[in-house]
Amino acid sequence: MSTLKVDLDLVQKYNVAGPRYTSYPPATKFTDALTWPQLAEKILENNKTERDLSLYFHIPFCETLCWFCGCTTVITLNHSQGQTYINYLEKEVAQMATLINRRRKAVQLHFGGGSPTFLAPDEIRRLGDIIHKYFTFSDDIEAGVEIDPRRLTRDHVVALREVGFNRASLGVQDFEPAVQQAVHRIQSREMTQQNIDWLREMGFASINLDLIYGLPHQTVESFNRTLDIVLGMQPDRLAVFSYAHVPWVKPAQKILEQKILPSPETKLQLLKNVIERLTEKNRYVYIGMDHFARPKDELVLAQQNKTLQRNFQGYSTRGNADIYAFGMSAISQIPEAYWQNEKELPQYYAALDAGRVPLTRGYVVSDEDKIRRDTIMRVMCDLGLDYAAMSQRLGINFASHFEREIESLAAFEADGLVGRSENGLEVTERGRLFIRNIAMCFDNTLAASGERKHSRTI
Ligand code: SF4
Repeated sequence: MSTLKVDLDLVQKYNVAGPRYTSYPPATKFTDALTWPQLAEKILENNKTERDLSLYFHIPFCETLCWFCGCTTVITLNHSQGQTYINYLEKEVAQMATLINRRRKAVQLHFGGGSPTFLAPDEIRRLGDIIHKYFTFSDDIEAGVEIDPRRLTRDHVVALREVGFNRASLGVQDFEPAVQQAVHRIQSREMTQQNIDWLREMGFASINLDLIYGLPHQTVESFNRTLDIVLGMQPDRLAVFSYAHVPWVKPAQKILEQKILPSPETKLQLLKNVIERLTEKNRYVYIGMDHFARPKDELVLAQQNKTLQRNFQGYSTRGNADIYAFGMSAISQIPEAYWQNEKELPQYYAALDAGRVPLTRGYVVSDEDKIRRDTIMRVMCDLGLDYAAMSQRLGINFASHFEREIESLAAFEADGLVGRSENGLEVTERGRLFIRNIAMCFDNTLAASGERKHSRTI
């Protein structure tokens, strides 16, 4: 794919609220109706399959709050909290591991947050020991960690490598001093480069940088300076997120309203500029949904081979595994159900102290949900659908099952975003930017959704 040209009129037309489809149905559909006996039954059933495992650990702590943050965090300078938290993670892992077949291999491990590197290197080692005690890693495990470059030391990187991590994602957002000051996150270029050097030196196979557009004081010109620096750092992958202003969920974001947030027009120009610069001269391939990767990256190859997957950790080549997630607010996923842990630390600790699973809400997936989930995931990952292949895969007549949905794509076709034939549909290059909108045509949970539950699609 060469430089992707962005049509701003179309961006404006399709910029509506919609799910990000890291799950289907989206997490907004989870309820507290799912009980532990029901869930335990699903997990025991799931264990008969010996499917691969994906392990997720949520480390919620950060020393300071970045005012744009939309993550589930606990802000504290008290580092002894890390030790206590690991004690509880150990209880939770021990509790769940008794239900999981030991022959199942972990093909994916992810530490997210918050900031996993809030933990001291020896705490990371201890958590690694706990995980290795209860689970077996596959030889080619994809093990990724989210890193806050402001808190990383070389010893952190050594400890992460010892645990088995081989991928890292670094939060950057923007290198401009005025932007960094306005969002309460000061992080120099030198500090970030030092992190990358340590990670490369220690043999991390893939480094991702996260950027955000739509922050205070950003202009196309200023963001180009950040992009210049970032391109010079040669990350393997880039995630460029639109700033989601949701102060009704994250009250601290109100602080940003006193700053100069870019106008909607500037935000669109920023998006256009990012996509065109990153895809220029085939530097990066736009995978879809904010993600870019080098043309030879395994994500790009998986997309070409139609083996790319999408789950709560975003795009992945190992996304077909069942996710068992640990820690406050963590979401687990098996084909038959989703479930989320208690979202506040005291409740999470209290459940484990009482010997209970810290389940707060979840969802039992129906047969129709499974059909729609698979369809939405294939659209988002493969950028197209082959009706015969989908019919075989799902055991239905795909074209007649989704007759109404396929018909509803006429408007997208007229705008040059999809091509339809009797045999299938294909998302065009310019349609990649609208992949959420296209996927939404196959979603039958949207009618009752409130506008405020989801961020905008672009
Ligand atoms: S470091 Fe990351 S998780 Fe922590 S407050 Fe900042 S953006 Fe949020």
